[in-house]
Amino acid sequence: MESLRQNLAAVRERIARAAEGAGRDQAGITLLAVTKIFPAAAIQEAYDLGLREFGENYVQEFEGKAAQVGGLAGARFHLIGHLQSNKSKKAVELFRVIQTVDSARLARRLNEALVRPGPPVADLAIGPAGESPLDVMLEVKLSGEDAKSGAEPAELPALIEAVRGCQNLRLTGLMTMPPWSDDSEASRPYFRRLRELAEQHGLTGLSMGMSHDLETAIEEGATCVRVGTALFGKRKKV
Ligand SMILES: *Cc1c(COP(=O)(O)O)cnc(C)c1O
Repeated sequence: MESLRQNLAAVRERIARAAEGAGRDQAGITLLAVTKIFPAAAIQEAYDLGLREFGENYVQEFEGKAAQVGGLAGARFHLIGHLQSNKSKKAVELFRVIQTVDSARLARRLNEALVRPGPPVADLAIGPAGESPLDVMLEVKLSGEDAKSGAEPAELPALIEAVRGCQNLRLTGLMTMPPWSDDSEASRPYFRRLRELAEQHGLTGLSMGMSHDLETAIEEGATCVRVGTALFGKRKKV
């Protein structure tokens, strides 16, 4: 707990400095605590220290933790790993935000999964926790062959139109993950490109930046940084 408390203070300080350096209000930057591989107890600790936004990569893994932390008041869980459309139903039960929508087919499956069967009240879509719609971001592949998932920039116009046609989904922005490099400057062109794409399409949310390159991401306009290692330490390999 003590080390998480210190790590959190350090990460918040990094975010504050980067925001200040970029002339931005840090209130516009969400710290998403990435808890993949770590147990539910880590989420509880982070929650007790005031964190409310959490990122998980795998539907199945989070299903196991949700029994313990799914009901934490005010906590919002974001899916940040690739989602197979056959897991859409489960995903909308577990997550409030899906950051990795990368096809129209997946968007439609999520949209359908949010419509509850039953009497015609169902016109009013009811999402998880009785709230609707579901916030989604589009994962964009900017690094050619390296990335396994994400939509190509050229596919964005059609994908955005498809998502905007889904009444149970609310499109909030774009997300990306540059190829790994320990030099944070290497991420900059990807972050910049994502911001340009968002601007072109009238989107304001930008989920980009992780433990090693969050400053660069904030300089380039990130509204959500996804931080695991700098908060919780190194993950064990699975
Ligand atoms: C694991 C992961 C993160 C967090 O990475 P760290 O380097 O541990 O901060 C962020 N985003 C995605 C999509 C991830 O899979």
